[in-house]
Amino acid sequence: MYNKKEPVFLKNDIPEIWHGKRYYSLDAYFKNTLGHKLNKIAIDAGFTCPNRDGTLDARGCIFCSEGGSGDFAVPFSSIETDEPYIAYFQSYTGTYAPVSQLEQIFGQALADSKVAGISIATRPDCLPKEVLALFGRLKAAYPRKFIWIELGLQTIHEQTALYIRRGYALECFSRAIYELDSLHIPVIVHVILGLPGESESMMLETVEYLGRIPVFGIKLQLLHVLRGTDLAEDYEKGTFSALTMEEYLHILINCLDHLSPNIVVHRVTGDGPKDLLLAPLWSAEKKKVLNALHHRMKLQNSYQGKYWKGGISYASGTSDTL
Ligand code: SF4
Repeated sequence: MYNKKEPVFLKNDIPEIWHGKRYYSLDAYFKNTLGHKLNKIAIDAGFTCPNRDGTLDARGCIFCSEGGSGDFAVPFSSIETDEPYIAYFQSYTGTYAPVSQLEQIFGQALADSKVAGISIATRPDCLPKEVLALFGRLKAAYPRKFIWIELGLQTIHEQTALYIRRGYALECFSRAIYELDSLHIPVIVHVILGLPGESESMMLETVEYLGRIPVFGIKLQLLHVLRGTDLAEDYEKGTFSALTMEEYLHILINCLDHLSPNIVVHRVTGDGPKDLLLAPLWSAEKKKVLNALHHRMKLQNSYQGKYWKGGISYASGTSDTL
């Protein structure tokens, strides 16, 4: 199933396997490995989160909406599609439940012939040994499907992590990355650009750090200020301002220039619910933002890894990603 192609370089170090984009997008990755694109359907499996249920905190991360960062997610049983897809367990913390319940939920998804693989959004402090052992069992039971883990790191900087109430230290994250890598479980890391108090160089440090550890994918997300969150209160008090589109494109392109080309880029904007979006409002026009990004990258001759100083393998994290 895994059909890794050797990179063929076009001019300006842009490999053919990126299929015309200036970064290694998830669509390109699927074209290279499966021969076709794959949609992701966000699922709400009814989990909660230790950062919301009072175990760590009752308030949640400062930017997190009532929907637990899964505002478009639907129950698995309501999905109707004839196309193969990725079952994305997005809402709240996707491993925060008894192992027997997780086994039933993930097993049911993997057993579905239309599910090509599952992607589970969780926290690095919610991956105990029993959960890791479950992933091992599921991988053995479904060798032709993939299991991905998505971790919301947002930043490597501890002072920002404290402000956003992330609730775990960077060391916890890096330990989880290596434990998952030892099981050949690819990890997608969520990073937020534009967090209050972060300079551009701090954001570059975060993406450069991810190039040095075994990370399969990245979601580069613009900070969205959503109504009803504590972040919205700070925004309305004027303690920080949201990025303009100009600022965001500048930072995003710089981050892509510094990002290891081995990492698959799963997202370069954000998908906040429009009815909750307080700022920045320009981000609701996603197509316009993407067009501007691609246009500007071409004008500047920017491309993922332009300033990357490490090795290039295009191995996508682990050799058995799919
Ligand atoms: S860990 Fe995720 S679900 Fe939990 S509060 Fe933070 S963003 Fe929300």
